[in-house]
Amino acid sequence: MREFLIAGNWKMNGSIAASEELAAGIVAGMPEGGGFRVLVCPPFPYLAAVSRQLEGSAVALGAQNVSAHKAGAHTGETSPSMLKDVGCEFVIVGHSERRAMYGETSVQVATKFQAAQANGLTPILCVGETLQEREAGTTESVINEQLDAVLDAAGVVAFAAAVIAYEPVWAIGTGKTATPDQAQDVHRHIRARLAEEDSALAESVQILYGGSMKSENASGLLAMPDIDGGLIGGASLQASDFLAIAGAAAQG
Ligand code: PEP
Repeated sequence: MREFLIAGNWKMNGSIAASEELAAGIVAGMPEGGGFRVLVCPPFPYLAAVSRQLEGSAVALGAQNVSAHKAGAHTGETSPSMLKDVGCEFVIVGHSERRAMYGETSVQVATKFQAAQANGLTPILCVGETLQEREAGTTESVINEQLDAVLDAAGVVAFAAAVIAYEPVWAIGTGKTATPDQAQDVHRHIRARLAEEDSALAESVQILYGGSMKSENASGLLAMPDIDGGLIGGASLQASDFLAIAGAAAQG
């Protein structure tokens, strides 16, 4: 039985004080019950401060990116062991903003995925198509290329300790959410692709939906059989909005 994961991607927002306040608000308002986990991914400079706020709580800490390298002459990069050191359990890899704005290829993303796992971090692998790709009918082949890079590098077994986030690029930060059926179709496809390699393992992998998820649409999305949570940007920046989505997971 898969549990829900509700993950907040704070992106490049906030300050030390605002991050501490947001984390404290989330900890204080965590819904009762089981069957779900909550995760926040603050910007790098605020990880330590947020880690302290989360101590003793059920809220997990993650980062938004990671270097594929261990240490040394990589100015401006942050290694997986540094993330571990500061208390991270998860790290987002291959977010569409990194693929589109910073030129990260699927092969580079796969390398980061492996580096994260080698250091005991759970990677959250983001995959998703642009509007143009959807309209051209290539959604599934785009997703396959993104998944296959990791399958080729790490094998299906690596997905036993990973999370996938389906994030249609056209829905991220646009206010346009995929309908539950649209999202479910792609989630089903992702699980089927993994099942071609290992059907039992495919059943256990958490696949999150990301793209303008908010309290108003969370229940409908989370009700779909292959949607196991959300990766949430905009609506993760206010404790009350984020907690409402966590509440939907707690009731699901
Ligand atoms: C994201 O960036 O991962 C995301 C899903 O953003 P938003 O919820 O704002 O669309």
